[in-house]
Amino acid sequence: MIMKHNNTLIQAIRGMNDVLPADIQFWQHIESLWRQICRQYHYEEIRTPIVEHTQLFSRTVGEQTDIVTKEMYTFEDRNGDSLSLRPEGTAGCVRACIEHGLTYHNIQRLWYLGAMFRHERPQKGRYRQFYQIGVETYGLHSPAAEIELILLNARFLKALGLEDLQLEINTIGSAESRQRYQKVLTQYLNQHQHRLDADSKRRLKRGHPLRILDSKNIELAELIKHAPVLSDYLSEDSSRHFDTVCQLLKDASIPYKINPHLVRGLDYYNDTVFEWKTQSLGAQGTVSAGGRYDDLVSMLGGQPTAAVGFALGLERLVLMLKNKSIDIPSVDLFLMPAETKWISNILLLAEKLRDALPYLSIHTHLSDGKLKRQFKHADKSNARFALIIGQAEQNSHTISIKNLRETVPQQTLTMPALIEFLHTQFKRKTDHEN
Ligand code: ATP
Ligand code: MG
Repeated sequence: MIMKHNNTLIQAIRGMNDVLPADIQFWQHIESLWRQICRQYHYEEIRTPIVEHTQLFSRTVGEQTDIVTKEMYTFEDRNGDSLSLRPEGTAGCVRACIEHGLTYHNIQRLWYLGAMFRHERPQKGRYRQFYQIGVETYGLHSPAAEIELILLNARFLKALGLEDLQLEINTIGSAESRQRYQKVLTQYLNQHQHRLDADSKRRLKRGHPLRILDSKNIELAELIKHAPVLSDYLSEDSSRHFDTVCQLLKDASIPYKINPHLVRGLDYYNDTVFEWKTQSLGAQGTVSAGGRYDDLVSMLGGQPTAAVGFALGLERLVLMLKNKSIDIPSVDLFLMPAETKWISNILLLAEKLRDALPYLSIHTHLSDGKLKRQFKHADKSNARFALIIGQAEQNSHTISIKNLRETVPQQTLTMPALIEFLHTQFKRKTDHEN
C-alpha cells in the first residue's frame, strides 16, 4: 500500500461495525427466517428513512430520556434544520403511518429491519450503529395483540434454536397511575439519596425515577428490591388488561416471569411491557423488548390508535448463534479444474448445473493451483461435493464427483447422471424450502 507519510490510515467509526463474509451467513440466516415467519403471521414490511427531524424523537422517545439527552446523532443540515439519525424505529414508523393514512380506521401489522444509531459506550453487544428488527401493530386494543407479538417472537427464537431465553413481563399502567406512583417513588429515592450512583442521581433530578428501577448497577439491587411497586397504583382497567395478558400467556403455554421492576427506557409505553433476556451475554442480556404504546399516535397528531410493538437487537442474536456454533449451510458444490486449461470448462459446467438445479449454491474455482491445494479450499468451503474436470473426464464426456463429508469412493458420471444424482442428494433441501 502506498501512503504519504503524513496520511494516517482511516478506520471505521468506533462502535460501528463492518460485517465481513465470515459472519454474513448468520445475518442472512436470521433475516431469511424472519421474513418467513412474518409471512406466516401476515405482517407486512415498511421501510422508513434513517434520518428524521430531531423533534420527532425528542417528542416521542422523551426529552429527558438517555437516548435524547446524550445518545442521539444530531446535526444541522445545509438548510439549518435539526436532523437526527434514528435511535429507534417506532417513531419513524408512526410518523409514516400518520403521513400516509395507514392507521386511519385501519388495523396494521408492520415490521422493519434496519440500522439504528446511539452514541453509547461501545462494548460487547452494545454498539453505536446497530441493527434492529421491529414489529408494530396498530388498531388492536385487545391483550391478544400483545400475545400475538410474543408468540411471533417466541416462534422466531425457537426457529433460530435459541430457546434458553426468558420472557419477563410487567405492566406500567396508564400515564396517570405512573404519575401517582412516580411521586411515591421519588420520595423513597430521595430518602436514600446517599445510596444512589451518579446516573441514578441524575435521573432522579431530571424527574425520571422509574428508569432507576431498571439500573444495571448491582449495588442498587437491594435499594430497588425494597422500593414501592407500581402494581399497587394501577387503575382497574390496567389491572384487568394485565390479568388477561397473563392468562393468555398461560393458555398459549408461554413460560414467563412477572418482573415488577421492568420499565422501558422510552417514554411512550403504557400497560404491558416485556423483554426476552438471556444469561449468556452478560449485562447486555436483553435481546428483544417492547410493549403497548396507545398514546403515541395521537401524540404525533394522528387519530387515537391502540399500538403494540417490540424491537429485537440483531447483533445480540448473532453473538448467541456464534456461541452455539450451529451449522448454517452455505455452499453446496465446489467445482474445480484438474489443470489450468480446464478453467473455462468449469465455468460452463457451473452454468449448466445452475440451469438444471437452480436451488444449489455453486462455487467455481477459476484460478491456478494444484489439485491437492484446491481440495483444501474445497474442504474449507464446507461444500458437500467437489466436482472435477480434467483430461480423462474430457475424453469420456464425464465429470468426477467427490463427497467431501463422507468417505465414499469418488464417482465419474455423465452429465445427465450427475444431474440426477445431485437432484436426489439435495432433494430434501428443496422439499424443506418449498
Ligand atoms: P438496553 O437496556 O440493553 O440498553 P434498551 O432499553 O436501550 O436496551 P431498546 O431501545 O428497547 O433497548 O432496544 C431493543 C433492543 O435493541 C435491545 O433489547 C437490544 O437487543 C438492542 N439494542 C439497543 N441498543 C443497542 C445498542 N447500542 N447496540 C446493540 N443493540 C442494541
Ligand atoms: Mg439502552
